[in-house]
Amino acid sequence: MTIRWMNQTVGYLPGPVNVGVVRLGRDEALVIDAGLDGDRGKKVLRALEAERLRPSVLFLTHSHADHFGGGALLAKRAGVLVAAPAEEAAFIRRPRLEPFALYGLAEPPPGLRTKFLQAPPLEVDLELEPGPWTPPSAEPRLEEPATAELREGRKADPVETEIVDLGGHAPGQCGLRIGDILFAADALFPPAVWAKHGFVYHASVDGALASIQAIATAAPRLLIPGHGEPSDDVASLAAANREGIENLSRAVAQVAERTDEGASTEAVLAALAREWDHQFRGLPDYFLARACVQAHLSHLVARRRLIPVIEGGRLLWRRPT
Ligand SMILES: [Zn+2]
Repeated sequence: MTIRWMNQTVGYLPGPVNVGVVRLGRDEALVIDAGLDGDRGKKVLRALEAERLRPSVLFLTHSHADHFGGGALLAKRAGVLVAAPAEEAAFIRRPRLEPFALYGLAEPPPGLRTKFLQAPPLEVDLELEPGPWTPPSAEPRLEEPATAELREGRKADPVETEIVDLGGHAPGQCGLRIGDILFAADALFPPAVWAKHGFVYHASVDGALASIQAIATAAPRLLIPGHGEPSDDVASLAAANREGIENLSRAVAQVAERTDEGASTEAVLAALAREWDHQFRGLPDYFLARACVQAHLSHLVARRRLIPVIEGGRLLWRRPT
């Protein structure tokens, strides 16, 4: 696995999750996301070594395990300074919260505590908010963890970097814009993902739509998503994602509106799975799809297309009368 350079400064390592690389100095690199686990973390280190680069800062776009699970290895082996959006930091530090939250704030069954949903804990050194950012850079510190000097961002770097609010897929998700290249994390998915999955997860439908709009308006020259190939046709990618989300909302509403009684969350899930011939591959797949449907149900209630009704011990989503 070698780094694909998009220009002299910015590149990425393709994989199940793309890992961004930004040169901060002659031999120093900012890494964006860390992949699923220690194996991926090792591959990232090897690819950087091959280019004589030393990772000094790790920026995590959001707290999903497939994006930060490799971070613990990068922190241990390379002593990277870990930066993350403030709202995502709690889940990165305490990853057992992720399956706990997904299960509705209750202890989940063991099948939900897989490495795809629960990464190793990782200390976050810098909690960041959207806006211009100067990634701290420093001399080699391979043997020791980050110091106070590093935390204060001692040295400026010449790359114009902005932390971009891309909340929606995860509440506090942020992308990173380096000049005219945007690392967009999971704000946009390649069309292949929409074609394959059906239940494309966003925690907030309104948030996801606002982030897509913000990306379309900013119109970066090149967009590197968390999954899939980079795109220089950001307008089309944004339109495809907007359409995917709107279609999903419509599909959820249509199931609930089929009868006067409405439908339970489980009934909506089952109906869509049947329609799309989707076989749930286990608890994580089921609960992620469920959370995805729940986000759309909230969105439809906020739009007054559905109302929640508790009847006969069941929670039903129903067309308002
Ligand atoms: Zn994600």
